[in-house]
This record gives sequence, C-alpha cells and structure tokens, in this order.
Amino acid sequence: MPKTPAEIIREEVRALKAYHVPENAGMVKLDAMENPYRLPQPLRDRLARLVKEAALNRYPDAGAQPLKDELRRAFDLPGGVELLLGNGSDELIQMLIMAVAKPGAVVLGVEPSFVMFRLIATFAGVRYAGVDLREDYTLDAERLLVALERDRPAIVFIAYPNNPTGNLFDAGIIERVIEAAPGLVVVDEAYHAFAGKSFMARLSRHPNLLVMRTLSKLGLAGIRLGVLAGAGDWIRELDKVRLPYNVNTLTQAVAREMLQHGDVLTEQAAAIKLERGRLLGKLREVPGVTVYPSDANFILFKTSEAERVFEGLKQRGVLIKSLHGSHRLLAGCLRVTVGTPDENTAFLTALNQTLAA
Ligand code: PMP
Repeated sequence: MPKTPAEIIREEVRALKAYHVPENAGMVKLDAMENPYRLPQPLRDRLARLVKEAALNRYPDAGAQPLKDELRRAFDLPGGVELLLGNGSDELIQMLIMAVAKPGAVVLGVEPSFVMFRLIATFAGVRYAGVDLREDYTLDAERLLVALERDRPAIVFIAYPNNPTGNLFDAGIIERVIEAAPGLVVVDEAYHAFAGKSFMARLSRHPNLLVMRTLSKLGLAGIRLGVLAGAGDWIRELDKVRLPYNVNTLTQAVAREMLQHGDVLTEQAAAIKLERGRLLGKLREVPGVTVYPSDANFILFKTSEAERVFEGLKQRGVLIKSLHGSHRLLAGCLRVTVGTPDENTAFLTALNQTLAA
C-alpha cells in the first residue's frame, strides 16, 4: 500500500490553507491591487508584434541582461548595484528564504503585512517571527529592536508602503532596523509607483539592504516580473537558487518594450493616485466607516459589520478583500483596490446600499 498524503506531506504544509483566489468572473474586481487600465492600442499592437517574432522554440535568455539594463535605467539604480529577477516578487521572496534556510534560521516580519513572507517561510521549513505593529499600524521600534536581538533573523522583510495597511513606515525606524539587523533587510517596494518614496538610494550606504520591486501593481501583473536590487556579493549568492529560465521569453520581451514606454504606466499610476484621493474623501463621508490613509493603490477601512459588508458588496457585483479574522489588528477591516472612476463609484454605491439595507 502506498503511503497517504497525511504520512508523506510535511505537517506544517498540511496545516496550511492554500492561497485562495476567489471566483471573479463578471465582477467589479477590486481585490488584488491591479492597475484597472488596459494599454493604449498602438502599444498593444507593438507587443503583439513582439510576441509574433519571439523564438518560442528556444529557452529564454537565462541571464536576461538586456532586460536588466533597461530596468537599471528605468529604476535609476545607483552604481554598483546588481539585480536578480523573479517570476513576480513572490518568487524572489521564495529564493531569499530558500537560500538562508539553515536549521534554526529565522525570518522576521511585521504583523500585519504581506502574508507571503510568513507562508513562504513555512513552506521552506524556516521559523517565522512576527512583530506586531502599533495599534495605528506604525512600526514599533522598541519591539523590533528587542526581536532582532532575541531572534537574530537571517532576513527581515518590510513592505514600504505596507500591505494591507497602505501606509509608509517611518524611514528613520527602518534605518535603525537595517543598522541593528544581524542579516539582510529586504525593503519591499511593491507599491512604489503610488508612494514615490524609496530606499533605493540607500543601497550604497547599507551593505545588508536589498530593495525589491515588482511590475505587477504598475500595470503588468499578468507578465510576472519581480526585481531585487542590492550588492553583488548578496545577489550572486541568491542567483544560485534561481531556476535557470525563471523569467520567460514573453515576459522579457514585453517588459523591455514597456520600460521603454514607462510614461504610459506612470500616467496610469498618476490617474490611480488622483482617484485614490477622491475615494478616500468619499469613504470618509460614509457613516460608521473608519478609513486609513494610503500611500498605495488600495485603501484599508474598518466597519463594525465587516462580514456583512463584504458579502453585501459581493452580492452587488463588487469584489474586495476581507481581512477580518486574519489578525488581531485587522478586526473589522476590509481592503479595496483603487479602480477606474466608474468602478470606484460602483463600489461606493454598493457600499452605501449594503450599509442602508
Ligand atoms: N509584496 C507585496 C507587499 C505585495 O503586496 C505583493 C502582492 N500582493 C507582492 C509583493 C507580490 O507581488 P508579485 O509577486 O505580483 O510581484
């Protein structure tokens, strides 16, 4: 008799719930921090031509140097910084954790934050230490410094701005963490396009700092491209756990072309920021709702009836994300991605109807 999954699969894996992507056909989709805008037709035509010409019979360019050169220019990287590319930044998080997964190694993150830091540590059999934010979602410097001393983490992950809270943490406290950390500090700038602030320029000052970006939130979630920037000594080691062809040919071609037309995505990000301001203003007028400020392309808000509001929105065709029950500091919290003006209006209408029902 072959063994059952319960006998073979690791206990911590069996205890996990699979990352749930809800059914969304026909919905106003405001759950996943996507850019709601399509690309202009001439640009889509150029991409179509690139796909047509691509040599799909060959393996991708394993080193992806032309794409890295384009990223270097687009991200205005300081000299001496090297890049590691991933199939989305999710894969970069996985490579980072896999590379440090010695017995007894610890990965440290703040809570609440992006769930994949904890989940991937669990997949890799690495202990995850979570340090709670303060009640107002700011960093708790004292707790963090104590945890660094106690847990001696191989990697600290800090999302800047943070997901799901939307705020930028105090840069001075992050600096203190970088200086006190015994290992790497990864500043995850997935929402950089909507915040404008960055740790990229600090890379030359801190040898244990890595800065991570993604093209997902900028409008290219479908191509899966994450970028990790840092000192060559670290990047070259991390590159050894990368699967050789992790960034496929179509992703490389499309990303190179898009980075040459970066203004299109920057203009879309500007439109999203404008809408974020309108949505924040309108949400603040809704009785019974507490709204948190945002430097990202989503807004966190709290109501005393999170489950009913989430379901009511869903019934009215609007999908957002419920964080209620995921962490003590997120009780009653829901997260809405900033969409097009029409989508945001549909969300506000559905929200007001649900609350009045
Ligand atoms: N980091 C943060 C903070 C995120 O919120 C997300 C996506 N939700 C990611 C990384 C992953 O992005 P991707 O894998 O699409 O690059």
